[in-house]
Amino acid sequence: MARSAKGERHFGEGMADLRAEMTRFAEANGHPLSEAHQIVCAVCGSSLFKLETDAAGNGVAARCLSCPKYIYIQGSQSRLVGDLEECLCDCGNNELQVMMGTSCQPDSSRAEWVYVGGYCPSCGMVATYVDWGL
Ligand SMILES: [Zn+2]
Ligand SMILES: [Zn+2]
Repeated sequence: MARSAKGERHFGEGMADLRAEMTRFAEANGHPLSEAHQIVCAVCGSSLFKLETDAAGNGVAARCLSCPKYIYIQGSQSRLVGDLEECLCDCGNNELQVMMGTSCQPDSSRAEWVYVGGYCPSCGMVATYVDWGL
């Protein structure tokens, strides 16, 4: 099983274009992006990951492609249930550069929505793959 991107597809050069697409997606979702940053492996420094989510799509595990590190984005370890599905670009590539973003309530810094997007180094597609409310 594989999960494809949500919403619009755009093509770009990297993280700046991915952030722009995630900003559009979050705006349309009613929870605008407050902050976003690229995911980099804390162990080996790699920026290429395979993304996995569950049937409900309420979390993401990012698997580093250069070392055994799993990054559970924003508490996803306790959210993911059952079999996980791999996120796949439209071109068939599953090795993505990843950005995670949050939407915070206007009166606090508490995150209320999480977005995980990917940039495909093979074809340049930038898109949001998984988003969930906290
Ligand atoms: Zn790593
Ligand atoms: Zn692609």
